[in-house]
Amino acid sequence: MKITGCEIVVIGDGREVDPDLGGVEPLPILTVQTDEGITGLSEMFRVPPGVARSALVGMDSFFGSQIIGAKFVTPEAIWNRLYENMLHSNRRGWAMRCLGALDIALWDIFGKLIEQPVYELLGGAERNPFQTDSSKRHRASDLTPYATIVSDTWERKVVLNQQIERCETLAQEGYRAFKVEAMHSSLQTAVDLVREARRTLGTDAVLALDVGYGYNDHASALWVSERIEQFDVYFFETPFAVDSPVPYARLADKTSIPLAMGEHACCRWEFVEMMDQGGVTVCQPYSSNSGGLTECKRIVELVRSRGALLIPGNWSTQILGMANNHLAAYSPVSPYMEYSPAQVYASPLRAELQALATPVVDGKIALPNKPGIGIEIPDDLIDRFRLDM
Ligand SMILES: [Mg+2]
Repeated sequence: MKITGCEIVVIGDGREVDPDLGGVEPLPILTVQTDEGITGLSEMFRVPPGVARSALVGMDSFFGSQIIGAKFVTPEAIWNRLYENMLHSNRRGWAMRCLGALDIALWDIFGKLIEQPVYELLGGAERNPFQTDSSKRHRASDLTPYATIVSDTWERKVVLNQQIERCETLAQEGYRAFKVEAMHSSLQTAVDLVREARRTLGTDAVLALDVGYGYNDHASALWVSERIEQFDVYFFETPFAVDSPVPYARLADKTSIPLAMGEHACCRWEFVEMMDQGGVTVCQPYSSNSGGLTECKRIVELVRSRGALLIPGNWSTQILGMANNHLAAYSPVSPYMEYSPAQVYASPLRAELQALATPVVDGKIALPNKPGIGIEIPDDLIDRFRLDM
């Protein structure tokens, strides 16, 4: 089997949509074609369409020129060759996001070829029998999403009222894990949001806090973490920019709350640095942006050997969500993965894509069971949401 081409179409809720409010921003969709008619699909979160095309489409594109006409062996073999060929050019940034999306599409093709869900090809959903609740069950049986909650604006009143309402709505649907977001908010609002969410959700729910790189100084992050420790916070996400592990290390020394980062991290090396030098114990790679499922499988082993967690990130659609499901099914260190529930956000496209993916039922997602990644986008959806860009 040979790869014959890569195609990009761009879909979205509109050019002016605010992605921080739940809308789907212009999203390149990659389709990889083969001479046997099997195709692979992936999305490319926050990759400009022009970059996606110059990386993947046609014989004058960076990756396309190397794979179009090439024999399909395994996704890992192609990943290794393409990455090694980047050593003298561009080893990070958008190039890695494009390689990551390509890798997921290749896993989709590989799974369809072998007629297995991708997680089985990654290594299965095997679990240590001493860590499962039944000696007969040596495999993961389902996946647990945590719901990411944002508000329509960042005024204190709206943050506190709307995010708590959204938590309540989803808790009634059976969601068991939540992350609230105190972006563009005062330190006090962050503390109050966590207190109110815990009071509303009760002691059994999992509750995390994201402040979206909101702090520059160690004292602010410490002030918040000291006041929310009593509310059993599962992780504290990105208190600082992630360019340096130093502030993370200082905070990790002082708080019992696990520190989380990685939504835009790239390759295993950034995670190794943040775990080993920054004291981060919750890694949040997007299976696409961080370099693909091939790279995420390596990150799982590095996370596991450090006693940390890998909780796949996803503030994009359930096209990425389905790829993340395979990673979480395979990974023994991924008790949750991020999920942005369309029912609480005003985004027609988010809702339609969510309806195509494996549903959340009583707070759980069944293991993927279709060959490949397991999601296809109907032509009529593309037609209705296509952006001419
Ligand atoms: Mg975040």
